[in-house]
Amino acid sequence: LEGHVRLPAWIVRERMNLGELHAMKKDLRASDLHTVCEEARCPNRTHCFNHGTATFLLMGDTCTRACGFCSIRSGKPAPLDPREPEETALRVQALGLRFAVLTSVNRDDLPDGGAAHLARTIRAIRAHNPGVGVEVLTPDFMGNLEAVAEVVAAGPAVFNHNTETVPSLYPEVRPAGRFERSLAVLAKAKELGTALFGPAFATKSGLMLGLGETEAELMAVFEALAGAGVDILTLGQYLRPTRHQLPVKAYVHPDAFAELGRKAKALGFRAVYAGPLVRSSFNAHEVSEMEGIS
Ligand code: SF4
Ligand code: SF4
Repeated sequence: LEGHVRLPAWIVRERMNLGELHAMKKDLRASDLHTVCEEARCPNRTHCFNHGTATFLLMGDTCTRACGFCSIRSGKPAPLDPREPEETALRVQALGLRFAVLTSVNRDDLPDGGAAHLARTIRAIRAHNPGVGVEVLTPDFMGNLEAVAEVVAAGPAVFNHNTETVPSLYPEVRPAGRFERSLAVLAKAKELGTALFGPAFATKSGLMLGLGETEAELMAVFEALAGAGVDILTLGQYLRPTRHQLPVKAYVHPDAFAELGRKAKALGFRAVYAGPLVRSSFNAHEVSEMEGIS
């Protein structure tokens, strides 16, 4: 991941269960569906696949934005594939997943940012797979709150939108994003989801650490997220996908993650996952087992 730089010991994972990983990879490749797990070569694949969780990348492999940390191709995306919602639902079934995480590239080229397509996919998964939870990781829809409402109404168990980093680093990390806009998306999702589904609905957000943020800045973001009613917070180490992305400024020690996690939890989040290898969709299956979330 980090080219020739030697990674700290806590980043190096135990050996993967290659047999199971291979079987799942073959199955995923047999379809046209992209999983983030594979594309980002996520270090948690064995863990998540063993727990029946995988993350699907919807709406194509080309993004209308170009975030400094992300290796997904940026440019003009192809038209949406109308078969994708149904095919994703059938793939969830074939893989025997217990929890499906949906994410997507940004589609600022579409009037609704792809909200209707995401909503259709959530509905198709729920219709084909009773009892399977869905977490949707959404773009900011350029602040279009009707788009947020459309996705929430489809009934995801978890509505996730990542703020990614602290506001001062947005110009290089998330140049087309706006912190306040993301906060408004999360607050709206919480308000609508709670009205429709009660406490069975959860919102979630996450940040990558090691991009140059300070602890004071992080605490201010945690407070803002807690203020927007966010239920679940994820904090993980930023790892550079290729040499073309932003360099890692710091490897945060696991003890520092634990301490930040404790401080965040004290602000009232229902759950905080903090650690070097924590990813936005990591432990989605555990979230589904949290009290009140189905
Ligand atoms: Fe896939 Fe997310 Fe798990 Fe990584 S953390 S393997 S991206 S579900
Ligand atoms: Fe990558 Fe998402 Fe940024 Fe697009 S919006 S470049 S997919 S992180």
